[in-house]
Amino acid sequence: MIILQMHKFNILLKKLFYVIFFITFLSTSSTIVFAQKNYTIVLDAGHGGKDPGNLGRKGSGYKEKNIALNVALLVGKELQKQKDIKVIFTRNKDVFIDLWKRGDIANTAKADLFVSIHCDSHTSNAYGAGTFVLGLRGNKKNLEIAKRENAVILLEDNYKEKYAGFDPNSAESVIGLSLLQEENLDKSLEIASIIQKNFTSKLKRLDRKVKQDNFQVLRETIMPSVLVELGFLTNKKEGRFLNSSSGQKQMAKSIAEAIESYVDHLKLNTVTASVNEIKTDVTSKNDIEFKVQIASGRNLISTKSYNFKGLREVQRVEVGNYYKYYYGITSQYKEVLKSLKTAKQKGYTSAFVVAFKNGEKISVKEANKME
Ligand SMILES: [Zn+2]
Repeated sequence: MIILQMHKFNILLKKLFYVIFFITFLSTSSTIVFAQKNYTIVLDAGHGGKDPGNLGRKGSGYKEKNIALNVALLVGKELQKQKDIKVIFTRNKDVFIDLWKRGDIANTAKADLFVSIHCDSHTSNAYGAGTFVLGLRGNKKNLEIAKRENAVILLEDNYKEKYAGFDPNSAESVIGLSLLQEENLDKSLEIASIIQKNFTSKLKRLDRKVKQDNFQVLRETIMPSVLVELGFLTNKKEGRFLNSSSGQKQMAKSIAEAIESYVDHLKLNTVTASVNEIKTDVTSKNDIEFKVQIASGRNLISTKSYNFKGLREVQRVEVGNYYKYYYGITSQYKEVLKSLKTAKQKGYTSAFVVAFKNGEKISVKEANKME
């Protein structure tokens, strides 16, 4: 009971945080420009090759791997009609792919959404469609993967030599990633419920609801991810429906439409900063620039000092889906070291120095030689 109340309290606190954040955001930025962005959707047809998945009732001849692939391809075909949606298939033919590899494809593509498609089976006459998101038990493993991927995504391959002092295991990095996981869970629940709504209201499938479970394929991804169980191949009527091309088309259309409305919703929530808020020309273009990187993440945060523990003149730079926040921009190495010290004292314990030449990132060592 106490745990439940704490949980409710946490949700309330989070909502309050968003409200405050939103008000702060509205009041501090003068121009809001809607982002022109492509959304990458990874469609994962379950099983394949040597792994047929479930085979339905004895003698039915159904193969989960084929039905999943057909539906995934149809979803992709529908989505590709949208200009700003990019579709990636983990497989587009009958091949076996490891579960970790499926997640890896999505992580490498920096996908906005991962949708895995399957069919259920049971010894009873159970039927109906359900959609799963990662359960809480899967979170720990997912956090490890997020840490690893985060180092790659945020800091590029050779981050060890480029960024002295970054520690993906630091408390601060881990807190950042846990917040990202919570955000992903929220979004996964959102897309899952749109899919279920389409299945049940448009196609009149029995609603087996949105559930949390510890599917390995969902543990491997670091973006909002869902696993769809189209229905039971072991149920005579439902098996026939799912194995038919008309059934597959209907299910695919439902999923595609759900993804489209999810993306529409994402668009409304994506804003980029007005140009005048990003000041890059602190020093002349040909100079070496040193900066302290204090934070990075998916959230757009206004660079006001109260958002950064009192640090002033924080610079925000958009890098792909992420924002990096820099402090203490200077051409002098000894000045940036002072700023690093200040940032650490303010609590940015994992802050580190980066260097640029002509706006291109170079190693701090190299920059030191040129200074
Ligand atoms: Zn399956």
